Amino acid sequence: MLSTGGTIASVYDPESGGFAPALSGEQLVHAVPGLDTLARVEVVQVANVASTNMTPALWMQVVRAAESALARPDVAGVVVTHGTDTLEETAYFLDLTLPSGKPSVLVGAQRAASEPDADGPRNLRDAVLTAVAPQSRGMGTLVVLNGEIHAAREVTKTNTLNVSTFLTPEFGALGTIEPDGVRYYRAPLRRQHVSVAPGATLGRVEIVTNYAGADGRVVRGLLDRSGLDGLVVEASGVGNLAEALFEALVEVRALGIPVVISTRVHAGRTLPLYAGRGSGISLRDIGCVFADNLPPHKARVLLLAALTHTKDTDELRRIFSGSDAPGTG
Ligand code: ASP
Repeated sequence: MLSTGGTIASVYDPESGGFAPALSGEQLVHAVPGLDTLARVEVVQVANVASTNMTPALWMQVVRAAESALARPDVAGVVVTHGTDTLEETAYFLDLTLPSGKPSVLVGAQRAASEPDADGPRNLRDAVLTAVAPQSRGMGTLVVLNGEIHAAREVTKTNTLNVSTFLTPEFGALGTIEPDGVRYYRAPLRRQHVSVAPGATLGRVEIVTNYAGADGRVVRGLLDRSGLDGLVVEASGVGNLAEALFEALVEVRALGIPVVISTRVHAGRTLPLYAGRGSGISLRDIGCVFADNLPPHKARVLLLAALTHTKDTDELRRIFSGSDAPGTG
């Protein structure tokens, strides 16, 4: 179990009047009665932060710790305790980069550990059950909360407070944790592997949004500062933008910076379907890459991993269409 913080490890702090990560991974394990009858759990404390303070550098630490645990023959799987706010980004990065085979399971909670009805202990127990279940092998990185198992690529946080928050709106959960154990009903087919070398530094990829009246000033502001490695655009609809935002992207592409088109619509792909400056066909023609059905924050995760291999438009298009990165598989 790799412990990173979040609400699952948070307690109420009367001085600040709010919740903050405080409990260690060992304390989380001890709060689950009988966990030692389900598995032998070894804890590694990677961090103790709110997941809003997760970074790509911390993802790399989690991946390295997970890799060395999974390489041990006596380890069935890895559980990562995590804040829910950015849990799906870490989960997707692990899903892309860890060797497939043994499962990795992300788990969090909506109610802090100091709440009388905290959901963390039950979720942690369910995550451990999922990690040791033989049926979880080959499923990649999973997200377990509220008795459900979801695929990392597809899951999203849907409610700020409700314990039923992680859902897969387009396709549904993979399975559930029942009184008699883990039960799967489907498998994730759109998984891919994009290796990230141990010493690699992930670049700088920003996200900008389209909205009525978007004029591209935010994008030009990003270009004024050096070091932009890639841009994800949260377009509207099937992948269309305000013309003025498009004109700014023409400048980004002229510098050879990869641009990926996602959408603010919560389900469905982006595609070059409409004509006119700012619409999908014009974005395709300046070398933008369409994000399939990945939301912007997950398109950024894939772009960060892919950029450690290539910034070539055709290669990026291949990767975003669901193929593995060059030299990997
Ligand atoms: N702010 C918390 C975090 O993401 C929320 C949570 O864990 O549910 O760390």
